[in-house]
Amino acid sequence: MAEVRSVLSSPVLNEKPMPVLFVGHGSPMNGIEDNSFSRRWEELGRELPKPAAVLCVSAHWYIRSTAVTAMERPRTIHDFWGFPEELSAVRYPAPGSPAVAGEISQLLRKARVALDREWGLDHGCWTVVRRMYPDADIPVLQLSLDSTKRPEWHYDLARELAPLRNRGVLVIGSGNMVHNLGMLDWEHQDGGFDWALEMDASFKRLISSDDHAQLTRYRELTKTASLAVPTPEHYLPLLYALALKTPNDRLSFFNEQVVLGSISMTSLQISPR
Ligand code: ZN
Repeated sequence: MAEVRSVLSSPVLNEKPMPVLFVGHGSPMNGIEDNSFSRRWEELGRELPKPAAVLCVSAHWYIRSTAVTAMERPRTIHDFWGFPEELSAVRYPAPGSPAVAGEISQLLRKARVALDREWGLDHGCWTVVRRMYPDADIPVLQLSLDSTKRPEWHYDLARELAPLRNRGVLVIGSGNMVHNLGMLDWEHQDGGFDWALEMDASFKRLISSDDHAQLTRYRELTKTASLAVPTPEHYLPLLYALALKTPNDRLSFFNEQVVLGSISMTSLQISPR
């Protein structure tokens, strides 16, 4: 594993930019289950260059402002109900980094970024990042999603995060590109409704052709777009990842599967060529 030694205040030049991920997190149970999704997350943790810090844009921190977690010791947030005690018992003691948070708030021009000391790591973040970095030795921060802003605004804000890639920060958008909890079908563990499969395929086509303009206007795609994305919070993290792709990057998909009828686990990795 290549070491990336940078801290934000002393960027390592000539270092390859860090990859960027969009991860479909799905059920919180993926945080503790040994399945094909969580195994891929573990592999990624071993394969990717070791980051100086992780910045997670999680669907589950959807508030009316932009904030970055800025505490030394972020708590593990169990923001779900009806799951086994074993899941609620998980603690992920990764440190935060007030210094990195301060640099991120300086970097972003499009939003006034609050330094947050209340939130922590929600399950959109820790169920994935804990599997990638089980030693909890890498600082992990979260950036909120401002629920009052349009997708285009989020895409533009995300572009301002680009310098982080050259400073050893791994940006992870964590959501699900097709996500309709109201239509979950527990009989359909490993499959999707026709509309969910269609939208998953449409999104993948647009992602592969770098049609980010259409992806930010996802509501206009087809009638079924509103079934796939009934609310924006699980989709917006995808735009954060895509906005960081440059012509020097290649893109690959992983965990390409629709589960429970209405959840796409399709994820992507953006890496320098
Ligand atoms: Zn979620």
